[in-house]
Amino acid sequence: MSVFTHPDYDGHEKLVFHRDDASGLEAIIAIHNTHLGCALGGCRMWPYATEDEAIADVLRLSRGMTYKAAITGLNLGGGKAVIIGDPHTEKTPELLRAMGRLVDSLGGEYVTAEDVGIGEQDVQVMAEETEFVTGFAHGSDLSGDPSPFTAYGVFRGIEQAARFHLGWNSLAGMRVAIQGVGKVGYQLAKLLTEAGVRVYAADTYADNLQRAVADLGVVPVAPENILKQPAEVFSPCAMGAVLDEKSIRTLGAPIVAGSANNQLATSSDGQRLSAAGILYVPDYVINAGGLIEVYYQYFGADRQEVLRHIDRVASETLPEIFSMAAASGAATSDVADELARARFTGGSLLCTDAA
Ligand code: NAD
Repeated sequence: MSVFTHPDYDGHEKLVFHRDDASGLEAIIAIHNTHLGCALGGCRMWPYATEDEAIADVLRLSRGMTYKAAITGLNLGGGKAVIIGDPHTEKTPELLRAMGRLVDSLGGEYVTAEDVGIGEQDVQVMAEETEFVTGFAHGSDLSGDPSPFTAYGVFRGIEQAARFHLGWNSLAGMRVAIQGVGKVGYQLAKLLTEAGVRVYAADTYADNLQRAVADLGVVPVAPENILKQPAEVFSPCAMGAVLDEKSIRTLGAPIVAGSANNQLATSSDGQRLSAAGILYVPDYVINAGGLIEVYYQYFGADRQEVLRHIDRVASETLPEIFSMAAASGAATSDVADELARARFTGGSLLCTDAA
């Protein structure tokens, strides 16, 4: 597959393909844009069926990170890494160390962290080989895995969306259907159940679903039924591209608000949701809590600011997007893209200026 004519290629600055025979590592790093700072974005490990799937994923994920950093006011660029392989059976310390060396070879242009299939212990192993890694506890005041912060941001975003779209001022009594109760989905389910929400959940990995059922009392739903589950909110917290022409017609909720990156299969699906009267909370805005957390970790900035920053995104940026979309008739996804682009195409900062 050619990259420069790929439908998901968006002027990306750099793509690095790497194979390490000794460990079996096959990985791709994509750096989308470093206009506002170095490219910070997690590393995903997933058993992609083809290399083309992995290329499409890393191109889309890295682009999303540029937009996420820009719209949340962080001086960071956008990048992401993917490892081709099954995290449950193929992840070894040797492979993670090889990944760490690959990240190190870019000299700080790309900084890595957790994503699907890669957890805090894994980034800790990568950190044996590189300093350009974040998202793990390595000091008394650092929190480690950013997923609880992502979940917190999604929770706050759900509150705002429910207020704006349905007039609910409290989440008590609401129904939320979560797709994927992994690192973020589980924490989100916990916050929601504590707030009196009835949570429905599906996961293709039985152990994760069982944990959420046993610990939190969520109602299990078959993976093929979770989008249709009648609820106030559908919360995609697994993989991307779950919202397309076909699936949008089956949605059982008037709000989509979840942590998954790249929830829309194509940009026109944002317009489809809007035409169907469904409020789509743009993924890279509502799921920015984890990036905000690792940014403050990495640059050693004031930790008291992390939750305040996440709260500002939920209580100021999201309502601004909702109102602009409602006033103009544009899709919330298009409004968010425009606001983000205005920032990352307008400024010029060095990575070292970021904090
Ligand atoms: P994770 O791997 O811990 O959890 C994902 C869960 O989704 C797993 O339990 C997996 O079995 C399940 N899953 C996969 N396909 C599914 C399907 N079709 N139906 C139901 N369940 C399915 O990953 P995570 O860190 O929780 O991330 C979840 C999503 O949020 C990803 O898209 C990730 O890119 C995004 N995200 C995560 C963070 C973070 O801080 N971890 C930050 C921003 C965005």
